[in-house]
Amino acid sequence: MKILILGSGGREHALAWAVKQNAACSGLIVAPGNAGIAQDTECQPVDPLNPTAVVALAQANAVDFVIIGPEAPLAAGVSDALRAAGILTFGPSQAAAMLEASKGFTKEVCDAAGAPTAAWARFDTAAEAHAHVDREGAPIVIKADGLAAGKGVTVAMTATEAHEAIESLFAENGAEVVIEEFMDGEEASFFVLFDGHTALPVGSAQDHKRVFDGDKGPNTGGMGAYSPAPVFTPAIERQVMDEIIRPTMAEMARRGAPFQGVLFAGLMIKDGRARLVEYNVRFGDPECQALMMRLGPQILDALLACATGQLQNVQLSWADDHAISVVMAAQGYPGDYVKGTAIRGLATLPDDPDHKVFHAGTTLGADGGILANGGRVLAATARGSSLKVAQIAAYHMIDAIDWPEGFCRRDIGWRAL
Ligand code: ATP
Repeated sequence: MKILILGSGGREHALAWAVKQNAACSGLIVAPGNAGIAQDTECQPVDPLNPTAVVALAQANAVDFVIIGPEAPLAAGVSDALRAAGILTFGPSQAAAMLEASKGFTKEVCDAAGAPTAAWARFDTAAEAHAHVDREGAPIVIKADGLAAGKGVTVAMTATEAHEAIESLFAENGAEVVIEEFMDGEEASFFVLFDGHTALPVGSAQDHKRVFDGDKGPNTGGMGAYSPAPVFTPAIERQVMDEIIRPTMAEMARRGAPFQGVLFAGLMIKDGRARLVEYNVRFGDPECQALMMRLGPQILDALLACATGQLQNVQLSWADDHAISVVMAAQGYPGDYVKGTAIRGLATLPDDPDHKVFHAGTTLGADGGILANGGRVLAATARGSSLKVAQIAAYHMIDAIDWPEGFCRRDIGWRAL
C-alpha cells in the first residue's frame, strides 16, 4: 500500500517513522517533509494546504491512503477534497475539524453533550467582554475564538491582565473572544481514535508548554512530552470516555458532522476527576513523537481501520513502557530566532525502535549538512522500561548534538518523576 503523509514537523516525522516500519507500507511520500524525513523516505514539495495540489500528488503517485498530520489542512478542507476524489484518508472533515478551529463551537458541543468543562461565554464586542471580567473577577481565561497556534490564550491571574488581553485580542483579531472560568488542577492529554462508531484509546501524555526549565517563560508549541501521563489513571480514563469523549462524538454525529480521526482531549484533572480544556483534531506535537515510539508500526493498522470504519477489529498491544521527547529549539524561540545555523553530530546517534531524533524545522545545506530552519527544530525521543530510563537516553542524544545556536529544557518529565 502506498501512503502519503501531509506535514513537515516532528509529529509527521514520527508518524512516517512508525508507518514505514509496517510491512503493509510499500511506499511512503511525505509532503512537504523536512531534511530528517528526507533521510528516511521520499519528500515532495507540495503545499499541504492546497486541496487541488494534494489530490493531484496523491493521484499522480497512485497513493492508496493519506494521513493528515497538522490541523491547518483539515481546517482548509483537504480531507474532504481527498475523499471526494475517492482517496482513503485519515483525518476529520472540515466540519468536524471545527472542534479545534473554533473554541466557541467546542463549548457549545460540550454543553449539548453534557461534557464537564469550564463555564464560558462568548463576546463579539470588547465592551461586553470587559463588563464580564468586571462581574466575574480573576483568575479568568481569555481566548481568541479561532485557530491561533497556542498564542491566543491568556490565563489571567489579575483583572488587569484580563482587560489587557481583551484589548489586544480585539485590536489584532477583531472577531470574537471566549471567556472561561479558570480551572485549577494538573493537565494531561488523551488521544482517542474514532471511526464514526468505535473509540480506541491510543495513549495519554503530558507536555511542557513553557520555554524554560521549571515551567517558566512564555508559552511555546511544546518543549517536550512524555507518555503515559501518571495522573491519567484507568479510573479517570473511564470517566473521560463515558462523560466527555463518547457524548461529544454522539453530539457531532447528531449535528451532521460525524468525527473520524484522532481526537486529542486536553484535560484538567483535580480530585480524581477530569474536565475538558480543549479538543484538537490531530495528534499533538511533541506528544505524537512519544506516542509513536510506544505504538510503533501497529499505528498504521489502527489509522487504516479508523479511516475505513473497522476500529472494532483493532487490538493494540501495549508494552509496559515509557517514552519521552525532548525538543531542541533555536535560541530566541518562541520570539525571534536565527535560521540557517549548522547542526552536527546527528549521524553518530542511535536510530532504532527505542531511540530516534525526529526532525521538525530542518533543511539540507548546500554541503549536505543539516541546517536549522524553524523555531522548534529537533525532538530527541527515547523509550525505556521507566520514564527515568527513557529520560536519560533522550538527554544522552541531546548531549551528543553539536548545535551551539540551539537549546532545550533540561527538566522534561519532572512532574512525573
Ligand atoms: P494549544 O493549541 O497550545 O494547546 P490553544 O490555543 O488551543 O492552545 P487552549 O488549549 O484552550 O488553547 O489553552 C491553552 C492553555 O491555557 C491550556 O493548555 C491551559 O494550560 C490553559 N487554559 C486554557 N483554558 C483554561 C481554563 N479554563 N482554566 C485554566 N487554564 C486554562
